[in-house]
Amino acid sequence: MYERPFNNADALTAPLRERWEQLLSLSAEADIRLSLYETVRSAERQRQLVEQGYSRRAHSRHQDGAAFDVRVKGHAEPEAVELMTHVVGPLGENIGLKWGGRWADPFDPFHFEM
Ligand SMILES: [Zn+2]
Repeated sequence: MYERPFNNADALTAPLRERWEQLLSLSAEADIRLSLYETVRSAERQRQLVEQGYSRRAHSRHQDGAAFDVRVKGHAEPEAVELMTHVVGPLGENIGLKWGGRWADPFDPFHFEM
């Protein structure tokens, strides 16, 4: 049985939660509405994601409440990826987040961490 993603912002570390709230409002100013898809992750779910090829890390920052994944409301891929690449990712970097859109393997444009 696969675990579903847990998306409560309260599970994030305080500095990351603050940046999530900043990113949410900066994106809204650009007419992009974000939601949280996944925040904290169990070791078991991380193991399953590695097994399914979605992650390469044995230990993810998600397990420490130090990463979150977003979705763009009202947009599916590839439009959502375009909005992440051109607007949301750079906004996140401007407020001190590391953005998975800079990674090649795997490219992870919906992921942010500290
Ligand atoms: Zn992630």
